[in-house]
Amino acid sequence: MKATPLDQERLLELQKIDTQILQAEHRRKSLPELAEITRLSDEIAELSRQRDEQAVEHSDIKRELAKAEEDVEQVRTRKKKDEARLASGTGSAKDLENLQHEVATLDRRIAALEEVELGVMVRFEEAGQALSALAEKISALESEKSAIDEVVNTKLAEIKDELVKLVADRKDLSSTIDGELIKLYEKIRSDRDGMGAAEIIRRRCTGCQLDLTAADAARFAASAADEVIRCEECRRILVRTADSGL
Ligand SMILES: [Zn+2]
Repeated sequence: MKATPLDQERLLELQKIDTQILQAEHRRKSLPELAEITRLSDEIAELSRQRDEQAVEHSDIKRELAKAEEDVEQVRTRKKKDEARLASGTGSAKDLENLQHEVATLDRRIAALEEVELGVMVRFEEAGQALSALAEKISALESEKSAIDEVVNTKLAEIKDELVKLVADRKDLSSTIDGELIKLYEKIRSDRDGMGAAEIIRRRCTGCQLDLTAADAARFAASAADEVIRCEECRRILVRTADSGL
């Protein structure tokens, strides 16, 4: 294939732009912040699960507390009735004695139930504190995550601007290069990790980084300037420049 030396030079420029596009796309996918966001999201999900469990436990204890309060109240009501009857002084001496016994029993019962109530209150308090602690942790992680989200969005916007410019440059440049040469370049590029053309620098192919054999170097040096030459090792289009050493 033939192509003017100018087209070959432009092809190298095009390769530079294409390499920059690949690098920008790679940067976009591998921002270190993306891994950090994934880690934080996982942590938030796990803590939210724990918070939901804790909320269920908290409301279970709340019901338990209401029940314990009710138990104490019931016995207190019963005791008040007994005391009222004692105060009225109606009934036989035996009845009144029985009532006094009952009031003493109810006092002990109230004390025992109040003990239970207090225990439930302490557990309710603790469960509430655990719930608040989890909610605080989650909200701290969410702030951390949204700060990183902002950094990511800024970086992504910068990369996007860079890509828009590179793609526009690429379009302008490729429109000035012979179509057949572009076609060959694109075909090689898709087979060779995005690199279709390479400069020869000091008798070395900068595509595969292998030195030219003496025979190939001699052949390339003797080829017409508009002859499209290719690396015998990687098959990329080789562009000769002042640095080629041929
Ligand atoms: Zn090569």
